[in-house]
Amino acid sequence: MTIQEKDNLHIWHPLTQHKTASIPIAIAKAKGAILYAEDGKEYIDGIASWYTCMYGHGNEYIINAMHEQMKQLDFVMFSGFTHKPAVELASSLLEILPQNQKKVFFNDNGSTAVEAAIKMSLQYYHNKEDKRDTIIAFENGFHGDTFGAMSVSGLSSYNGPFEEFLLNVVRIPVPQEDNLEEVCNKLEQIIEEHKCTAFIFEPLVQGAAGMKFHSANGLNHLIEICNKNDVLTIADEIMTGFGKTGTNFACDQLEYTPDIMCLSKALTAGMFPLSITSCTQEIFDTFLSDEVHKGFFHAHTYSAHPVGCAAAIASIGLLKSSEITESRKWIEECHQDFAKGIAGHSKVQNVRVKGVVFALDLTISMDRYGNLRDKLYQFFIDRGVALRPLGNTIYILPPYVITEAQLQKIYDVIMEVLDHF
Ligand SMILES: *Cc1c(COP(=O)(O)O)cnc(C)c1O
Repeated sequence: MTIQEKDNLHIWHPLTQHKTASIPIAIAKAKGAILYAEDGKEYIDGIASWYTCMYGHGNEYIINAMHEQMKQLDFVMFSGFTHKPAVELASSLLEILPQNQKKVFFNDNGSTAVEAAIKMSLQYYHNKEDKRDTIIAFENGFHGDTFGAMSVSGLSSYNGPFEEFLLNVVRIPVPQEDNLEEVCNKLEQIIEEHKCTAFIFEPLVQGAAGMKFHSANGLNHLIEICNKNDVLTIADEIMTGFGKTGTNFACDQLEYTPDIMCLSKALTAGMFPLSITSCTQEIFDTFLSDEVHKGFFHAHTYSAHPVGCAAAIASIGLLKSSEITESRKWIEECHQDFAKGIAGHSKVQNVRVKGVVFALDLTISMDRYGNLRDKLYQFFIDRGVALRPLGNTIYILPPYVITEAQLQKIYDVIMEVLDHF
């Protein structure tokens, strides 16, 4: 039996309608920006496997760090115990996070990092005996698939059957040039009418929504309103973090810093599932008490896994290296040139670049998981390029180590798409 036949017998894949989905491609190995399939075909990983493997697949530097760690300490419970990789990761991370971030809490995936952030914000007010029950979020945001994270996500294609079981969330539109005043007014009105704990947002780029951008200026205004009204702010940097938007974190482009941040994905460069929720000293201090139950009683078994921490420390080291810094700049320049070249194309409705994120919207409309979108996906796959269009949005988010020829091939296939669709 082939891998695919065995897969078909036993496996239930995520985000998949198994009745109509095409057979998944069996990947045997990966190196740099290339995925090598079982059948000998090769694919350029144009979105770094959901923006995780930013330093390239099979990165030897990170693998060595993990290997050394495994030999030293595989795992130990993180309640009542601590270890060097966790404390070293905390300090190297806090060095590059906004100055107000002082404490890190460990989880093992993005959704639970968001879940912890939401629970922190709810308990923060609970501990202060200030009863609050509502969270503010952007329309079309995506924050994960557990119940809290799903509640704040605004993409209804994910939430349909669960809608009536979710937390209280009120949404505001994403600020643009022409609606900023309206969005600010709406936020102020919501804060007045509801008892709000926090405002959660993907800063500057909404990933799953279709790589939609908004300005730092607009977001600054919204954070300022929250600060003035004693509403916590949560930046979900699970997609944007670790250099993708031009700065280490998208929040580095803001004037006001969030109270809580969520990190995962590129944190461990695709080598290990790990996530972090960081917060200010003030939030942490609100959980200090002689009453035990005022502490934060949230845990996942694999919290702060030493091997994941080792991968993250090595990844941060690479992020700071001059090689990676230069290639990030080079990729952005290539994206800008390509964007200029196709901006006037009749099939291109909008094209945008921020850091290494390139996105274009086709003039043809497509359902998020519709037939035409699947044809588009297949068109790329048939040409050896792994991209995952979000509806009619085609985006590239390549590993920082992609070569010139590989990036050019992605551009060439996109040009072919524009002629073909
Ligand atoms: C991927 C993602 C999540 C969820 O992370 P998982 O590890 O898939 O649970 C949350 N927020 C954003 C912005 C993401 O891109």
